[in-house]
Amino acid sequence: MLEELGRLIELQAIDSELLELQRTYASVMEQPRALRLEMEGAIQELELLQQEDQQARETRTQSERDLAEGEALIRTKRMRLNLVRNEKELQALEHEVEMLKERNQRLESETLALMEAAEQRTRRIGELSELSRRQRGELAALEKARAGEVETIKIAIARAQASRDQKSAAIDSDLLQRYAMIASRRGGLAVAAVRKGICQGCRMRLPPQFCNEIRRQTAIHFCTNCHRILYCDDSE
Ligand SMILES: [Zn+2]
Repeated sequence: MLEELGRLIELQAIDSELLELQRTYASVMEQPRALRLEMEGAIQELELLQQEDQQARETRTQSERDLAEGEALIRTKRMRLNLVRNEKELQALEHEVEMLKERNQRLESETLALMEAAEQRTRRIGELSELSRRQRGELAALEKARAGEVETIKIAIARAQASRDQKSAAIDSDLLQRYAMIASRRGGLAVAAVRKGICQGCRMRLPPQFCNEIRRQTAIHFCTNCHRILYCDDSE
């Protein structure tokens, strides 16, 4: 076999391996991202609810205080009602009592609504606390497992890179440049096998005469369609 072609085939095998390793590396790095985003979302909602809870608690305390004050006021006014003889004053007092009672009813239903909302919120806060706690644990486990995986991939990449450097040093620089150009335009695959007369890079059928020339290996041949470097594979 033409030595140069043999080197190119080997280079292609290393480059394909490198490409695969880089893809794996990227996907491994990507793994915890989704989980982290999910966890951040849960924490954000949790913090918001906790703030809301704090405010609602303050509002409720205030309403309860207003309610107690209102009731005390009603009691005082009612006592005064028993003492007042003047009809006009009596009416005015009764009106005041009515107003106070209405206000208290409103405060009561507000307090009730606040209590119901607080119940729902407390439940959700519990759920979110549990969820983010679990997610934090999962993320830590994932990060730990990933650290080992990343290390293994990095070592494999460095090893492939070293053998790539060694291999490409033995290839004619013009040819290497052409190889690089094809690879960059053809998704990293610059060298393709021809099987049963078909370029495995672009699936085009090549003329039989051309296939014979490729088989003879007296020169480097390029696919007329995809321009990849071709070699004949009659193994099947
Ligand atoms: Zn082709």
